[in-house]
Amino acid sequence: MSSLSNTTFTGVELDNIRRDFPILRRLGRSGEPLVYLDSAATSQKPQQVIDAVSQFYSLHNGAVNRGTHLLADESTDAYEQARARVAQFIGAKSAEIVWTKNATEALNLVAGSMLQASLGAPTELDNLRLGEGDRIVVTRAEHHANLVPWQILCARTGAELAWLDLHEDGRIDLETLNRITPNTKVVAFTHVSNVTGAISPVAQIVAAAQSVGALTVLDTCQSSAHMPLNISALDVDFAVLSSHKMYGPTGVGALWGRGEILAQMPPFLTGGSMVTDVSMEETTFQTPPSRFEAGSQPVAQIVGWSAALDYLDKVGMDRICAHEDALGAMMLEGIANIPGVRVLGPTEPSERVAVVAFAVDGVHPHDVGQILDAHSVAIRVGHHCAIPLHRHFGVRSSARASASMVTSETDIDRFVFALGKVRDFFGVA
Ligand code: PLP
Repeated sequence: MSSLSNTTFTGVELDNIRRDFPILRRLGRSGEPLVYLDSAATSQKPQQVIDAVSQFYSLHNGAVNRGTHLLADESTDAYEQARARVAQFIGAKSAEIVWTKNATEALNLVAGSMLQASLGAPTELDNLRLGEGDRIVVTRAEHHANLVPWQILCARTGAELAWLDLHEDGRIDLETLNRITPNTKVVAFTHVSNVTGAISPVAQIVAAAQSVGALTVLDTCQSSAHMPLNISALDVDFAVLSSHKMYGPTGVGALWGRGEILAQMPPFLTGGSMVTDVSMEETTFQTPPSRFEAGSQPVAQIVGWSAALDYLDKVGMDRICAHEDALGAMMLEGIANIPGVRVLGPTEPSERVAVVAFAVDGVHPHDVGQILDAHSVAIRVGHHCAIPLHRHFGVRSSARASASMVTSETDIDRFVFALGKVRDFFGVA
């Protein structure tokens, strides 16, 4: 993507960053230093994040919002400061950040709340109620997390599901924007594809959705650790985030939603911590975000995520973006020079991030992954939770290499070298 700054890291800067990630000191299967090119699945964690989690448990652990003692107070403060930190990172208000266990749950929260509204839970926002004659629009490029909840919502309410289609190279085809029809109530789409790395035309999709009064839901799983993100500039109504893709712990994510919309949404999960009063017959609910945060929350992970965002901001999102852009271009060029390897996605670096899925002629992706692993290069293989997108490319699965802020040029060289050996190994060259 086009970066705010073209400054990539100096060698010393990158060495310093890499030193912060203890896992990079591990050796891979061949005994060589590990090349980790699977950040799109889950990112590695800097020592600062590991320490924040450990210090929370060592010094501050207590139940949040439920006690009067010192540790409960400290935990509650850390928990709410982390909420403010996530909000600041995306340019949003703290009260509009809802903790979830991951991005998948955040998407299910929106769809599940709409189901409750459609079944009669009170709301004054008509868009939250779906029925026959209404439409939800997604894209063919979605991760299953941003497809299955909408399929189910449609099946339960009688609404229809439609999708924006793709160019041959996996970019969203804007000619299909006319599928956002006047009866569309929700348009849910990914900011960046976890397979093709393609960056979605957010402004055009949002404009089409707004022209028919539809709510917009943006999946930022593959963008939030790779480019500066400003939620008000993107002008969507909801966005979902995932800590473990952003150098933070697993087990926590967030939903951001416009305050006035969250205020109209019925709860999704119910139980403790989200109520104002309970009788044996009925319950009244808190205002957001508490209304959507039933039960105990992953406080240590939330604190760790906040430390990850401090880390990202210290390094600088514009510089991370420039660094990864350069590596992505290098990866594409390296792959282009290997006969029999097809990139699934746009080959123009300005249209994508450094997440590169590919198919090797005559070799199953799992075998590709194994050969690379034998060279101590870790990549992802499979359908990457995007089966419809793989069908679009005429394959069932693929191999995928993804760079991150810790990736070096040596990593890319070693990946390209190992990939170049694959077809020889299987005698298909
Ligand atoms: N959306 C995209 C584009 C993803 O890449 C992923 C994870 O791979 C998800 C959603 C699901 O994220 P989580 O693991 O936080 O549920």
